[in-house]
Order: sequence, then structure tokens, then C-alpha cells
Amino acid sequence: MTSGNTAIGSATLAAPSGALVFYSQFDDFTAWKQALQARMPQLRILHESEVDDPAAIHYALAWKPPTGFFDPMPNLRLIINLGAGVDSLVGRNDLPAGVPITRITDPHMARMMAGYVLFATLRHARDIPWFEQAQRRGEWAYRHPRAPEDTRVAVLGLGELGAYAAHELQRQGFTVLGWSRSPRQIEGVQCHAGMGALDTVISQADILVIMLPLTPQTRGLLDQARLEKLPRGAALINVARGALVDQAAMMTLLQSGHIGAATLDVFEREPLPGDDPLWAMDNVLITPHLASVAIPASAAAQIAENIARVSRGDAPTNQIDPSRGY
Ligand code: NDP
Repeated sequence: MTSGNTAIGSATLAAPSGALVFYSQFDDFTAWKQALQARMPQLRILHESEVDDPAAIHYALAWKPPTGFFDPMPNLRLIINLGAGVDSLVGRNDLPAGVPITRITDPHMARMMAGYVLFATLRHARDIPWFEQAQRRGEWAYRHPRAPEDTRVAVLGLGELGAYAAHELQRQGFTVLGWSRSPRQIEGVQCHAGMGALDTVISQADILVIMLPLTPQTRGLLDQARLEKLPRGAALINVARGALVDQAAMMTLLQSGHIGAATLDVFEREPLPGDDPLWAMDNVLITPHLASVAIPASAAAQIAENIARVSRGDAPTNQIDPSRGY
């Protein structure tokens, strides 16, 4: 990760040409504009509604832009995905050929995600949902705490966010297993790789944390057969994408108690429809897709660095590989 000072220096020196267009229905344009302008005073930063000359747009900072968004921009040099998950961009057939796509890798975003994962893991490991239910019944329901090392937490996906979360979990004393596509090494984490190891990892998980990108390979990966491999009563935490999991199968297993509890930040359909039975389940905690967000003040450094690189003719960092989907 580049330090803020380096980014300020190189971005200012490079004085990027053209303008940057911003598109997001979830993020605050003013906050992003301020953070980016502080690092790139010469760059015009425009909300998509302010663009008068699309040919002047050289850079796009966008989250879930509508189909055809980039079509009027013939001089686009860089698309910056305003977030970590690029599944809403890759695979689209309206992307301009040859324009690199980067994602945000912001240490503060990873820290915020790890905080959510830690909260959810501790909540399950310390039986908090059970105590919440006992409290509603007015019951003093003592249940002796387990040592953290007796709880096995498996993290699927050991990328920017998953590796950070796995590290934080092992710092708390949990027995942590990790799973990724290619072999990884994280101190204190039992790392496994490849499809051949997936069932073994799942079958050892008292708590399963899903932190994979959504790609053609991972869509529906947690199907009924795989979810049934969890030890009975295991907890599920999904902070990645809803479509990684067969939601109907998960629901059935939550009803039967095979999955003891779930913390869900992401869903097959978002917003989760008001009549979805998940809302009413005592053993499910629902949050509306906010486990982590990109933070302008810290992410601006990396964006400025990449804009500076592209404007000097260098390749940007944190480029996504459309062929693998992340
Ligand atoms: P990265 O792209 O940095 O890492 C992805 C990880 O998943 C890597 O370890 C990769 O393996 C592994 N992986 C990818 N495909 C496979 C596969 N087929 N089999 C096994 N392992 C695989 O992602 P991040 O850590 O930055 O983010 C993960 C996801 O979190 C994002 O894609 C996004 O969907 C989600 N997210 C959710 C947010 C929320 O608020 N709920 C906020 C931000 C992100 P390898 O190491 O071998 O490449």
C-alpha cells in the first residue's frame, strides 16, 4: 500500500489532464471530490450530472454505473471501481476495450471489514444470540464460555479483506482456517487452496466466514451439499456477495438447525424483499450491505497514485483481471 505522502507527491507532479467523472448512488460526491481535489488540485472532478463534454473525461470513479455509462466517453483511460467487489463491472459487454479497471484497496476499508467480521464471530462464539433470546424470556441462562481456540473459524477468500480479517481472528485466539484459489501464507492461519480442499475446510468450520469475490467460478459455490458439510449448529457469516450462497438451501438449513445461526450482510436480491422469511428468523442477523465501505480520506491516496501513473503512461496498480473476474 502506498503511503499518503508518496501519493500526494506523484499525483501533484503528474498533473493529470482531462476530467474525472463520479458515479455512485450510495456514496457522497462532495466528500469524494474534496478528498480527491486535495491530492489532485488541477484535475476537474465532475458528478455525472455535470458532464458537458464527455470527450474530456479521462478517468471514471464509479460504483454500479448504468449500462452504456461509458459509451459517450471516447478518451477514457482508467475506470476506478468505487469499492472492492468488481462483480457489477466485469463481465459487462459495454466496457470500453483496452481501458484498465482498478479496484480500491484501502487499509481502512479492510480494517472496517475486519471489525464487522470480528463482531459477528465473537457474537456467535460467545453465544450472544442465545443470551439475547434468554433475556427476552426474562431468564438468567448461564452458559459457560468456551476458550477461543476451541472455536474453529474458516475464512473463504484470503484477499485484501479476507487476509486482514483472518489475521485479526487469529489474534483473538480463534483457531483459524483459510481458503483461497492459490496457496497463501498467513501467520497463525491454517491456509488451504483449491477446490479439492474446500469440503475439508467447510467440514471443520464452527463458524464459516464468506469473503470471496463473486465470479463465474464462485457463483453458487455454497450450495446445499456444501452447506450440509458444515458441522451441525455451525454459524455462517456472509459479508461478500449473496449469490455465492444458495439462499433457499441456507434458509432450509437455518430452519432445521443444521446451520445454527447466520449473520448476513449480503443477499441474492438487494434490498432483501420485505416478505423474505429471513427477516423473521430468530437465528439470523441482517444488515443492509455495509460491512465495509470505501473511505474517501484514505482511498483518495491510491486513486490519485493510479491517476498519476496512467497520466505518465504507466500501468495502474490494483488492476483487476477480467478473465478471472476479480
Ligand atoms: P480480493 O480480490 O482481494 O481477494 C479474493 C480472494 O478470494 C483471494 O484470496 C482469491 O484467491 C480468492 N478466490 C477468488 N476466486 C476463488 C476461487 N474460485 N476459489 C478459491 N478462492 C478464490 O477480494 P477482497 O478480499 O478485497 O474482497 C472480497 C469480497 O468482499 C469482494 O469481492 C466483495 O464482493 C466483498 N465486499 C463486500 C463488502 C460489504 O460491505 N459487504 C465491502 C467490500 C467488499 P487468490 O488469493 O488465490 O487470488
